Amino acid sequence: MIETKNLCKRYGDFTAVDGMSFSVGPGEVLGFLGPNGAGKSTTMKMIAGFLAPTSGTAVICGHDVVEQPLEVKRVLGYLPEGAPSYGEMTPLEFLGFVGEVRGLDPLQRRARIDDVVDRLQLGAVLHQPIDTLSKGFKRRVGLAQAILHDPKVLILDEPTDGLDPNQKHEVRALIRSMARDKIIVISTHILEEVHAVCTRAVIIAHGRLLADATPAELEARSRYHGAVSLTCENPAALRQDLLRLPGVQAVEIDDLDGRLTVFPRPGASLFEAVSDFLRERKVAISELQWEQGRLDEVFRQITTANVEREGARA
Ligand code: ADP
Repeated sequence: MIETKNLCKRYGDFTAVDGMSFSVGPGEVLGFLGPNGAGKSTTMKMIAGFLAPTSGTAVICGHDVVEQPLEVKRVLGYLPEGAPSYGEMTPLEFLGFVGEVRGLDPLQRRARIDDVVDRLQLGAVLHQPIDTLSKGFKRRVGLAQAILHDPKVLILDEPTDGLDPNQKHEVRALIRSMARDKIIVISTHILEEVHAVCTRAVIIAHGRLLADATPAELEARSRYHGAVSLTCENPAALRQDLLRLPGVQAVEIDDLDGRLTVFPRPGASLFEAVSDFLRERKVAISELQWEQGRLDEVFRQITTANVEREGARA
């Protein structure tokens, strides 16, 4: 279990993390979302025991990060942002060194290194200095060191940063495969990642937690949740009649691609009414979609509403 309790970090007058409280249980992959500068990395460093909180604390598997930082580091793997240090070492030397520091005996060390090299497909670069590797390989070496001791808790700061689409896919699959028996926190600003790997997401901005929900619950907050969108000839001719259908709140037509979207009143379901309407009017549609809701819109709504409130207060 991870539990953060009113975690704060101040740099002089500037508050980077402001009273962050949340918990994560086994089997959960928590996505940490927020615009650049929101305080994601700072919070993760504090949870991982690499940065002392100004006030508040976090408890990781029963160990307090402020009082028991060594015990915390033992149960936890941490992927910091950017590339691993010790760039003059090769991945094999680096992983051997990390294994030694982690207290693995030579046999265990070899078995674990073989396992992570295989999982992260590092075989081709094992003997090349880390400094000379591509960003994607550096990221994978970082991930390999984080999971080397098979920790219960994984804190991964932008794990797919710098990877190409295929590598992103593989790392997300790896995270999902490890999720069953671990507690995982990943930070990201890529919203598709939330769908791909997270069971829950917290959204932060200006160091504050603004939402804590499952991806589906977040999507349900979108004005697109339950909307029906379609592409057809002359969508403007349908607008007025669609507006008269029961449960319809609004009808919008996209200036760029002419796509028509019918928005429901809160709680209303539109799919049948709209599809019956289209059938009766014999409208030739090239595409019809029932929307789950748009995470990017919810993210913008939540993080910018906060900025506006801050502006109003200033
Ligand atoms: P994120 O990971 O969400 O992009 P960070 O946690 O890296 O955000 O940073 C949060 C805020 O704290 C940013 O405004 C950043 O400039 C500031 N910050 C981070 N580290 C320091 C530091 N060592 N000294 C002063 N300000 C810092």
